[in-house]
Amino acid sequence: MITIVLKIGLRQHVGAPCSPLVEVGQAVKKGEYIAGPQGLGARIHSSVYGVVEEITDEYIVIKADEDQPEEFVQIPETDDMLEAIEFAGVVGAGGAGFPAHVKLKADLTGGCVIANAAECEPILKHNIEYLENHPDELVRGVKYMMEITKADKGYIAIKPHHTKALIALGKACKDEPNISLKYLPNMYPAGDERVIVRELLGVELQPGQLPLEAHAVISNVESIKNMVRAIEQRRPVITKDVTVAGRVKDNDATSGKVFMDVPIGMPVSKYIELCGGVNEPYGEILIGGPFTGKHGELDAPVTKLVGGIVVTNPFMQEKRKLGVIACECAAQEPRLEEIAAMMGAEVVAEEKCKRMVQDKNGRYRCDLPGICPGQAETVLKLKSQGAEALLIANCED
Ligand code: SF4
Repeated sequence: MITIVLKIGLRQHVGAPCSPLVEVGQAVKKGEYIAGPQGLGARIHSSVYGVVEEITDEYIVIKADEDQPEEFVQIPETDDMLEAIEFAGVVGAGGAGFPAHVKLKADLTGGCVIANAAECEPILKHNIEYLENHPDELVRGVKYMMEITKADKGYIAIKPHHTKALIALGKACKDEPNISLKYLPNMYPAGDERVIVRELLGVELQPGQLPLEAHAVISNVESIKNMVRAIEQRRPVITKDVTVAGRVKDNDATSGKVFMDVPIGMPVSKYIELCGGVNEPYGEILIGGPFTGKHGELDAPVTKLVGGIVVTNPFMQEKRKLGVIACECAAQEPRLEEIAAMMGAEVVAEEKCKRMVQDKNGRYRCDLPGICPGQAETVLKLKSQGAEALLIANCED
């Protein structure tokens, strides 16, 4: 018998970590509310039947029972859809982690809601696979969002090459006069909220401005799936859809294999093993997509925000001195330094893409996401600081 131990993160959202509501030794059920937000945040529920083994500042560790019935503890009954979404702990599943009930507390009369189906990180496939198989559920979710916010229109933003998903969605919304499909350009970062507002509504948001300024709310496809389940099934967020890819032994999985409804807290290694295991040698375990993913370990747990589990190629080794150019929409300085270290290279100079400007809070933001400039001037600056080669996150130059 294999014992499965899950680490359920206390911080799976924007905001402070949740406070545990359970104790070590306590038996918990699937769906049970086990940690509550302190201020901005979202509720956390157990994804399995089991016993709490340990509680740390970061995790509630649960030893799963051998027997895992399908049934789960439902969220409290309510007629209020926004409350159901709050009770279920729905957050931005595309990686942002913003609590959905806070985002949807808006009056969008005359405005619109947008389902973000860009899935713009290369290699990830789970959002599109969901749309191919459950287009009606997504359309119901868009209607719920419109009802909650009083929005006049609903849009599904998707790239035109996802033909199967487009046909399925087209059929699902053929009798919905206020819901339509809108095309996104096939580039990175097409899923950035400011890019979506620019492409769909023709409004150029300033760095730091939210879609609300354009009278719109945007939610990732999987967040909408979780909203529908909260409203229709009273189901809390206890699972995550993920794509495993890269250097795994199963050849069919190297370009991306989708696992739907993975219990939150499961170690990522379990899903790598289901793809035949790591194909040695490899570089790192990347948690997330190639552009914005973070370095992780094999025992890293699946969270509400994990979309990709990528086993990378070994890092090329580089003896030349490196200059790095940070991009707001992909890797920034700390990640580029981390990659350089794995390449055995020394970073001697750092610059930001020239489109990165400070917003009113002093945070560097991209001025025009996806409309990348020539970087020649920045490269010359790096060269003058001793750089012999360049490490860059995202640029078409
Ligand atoms: S313009 Fe610069 S910061 Fe913006 S996406 Fe392109 S490379 Fe990144």
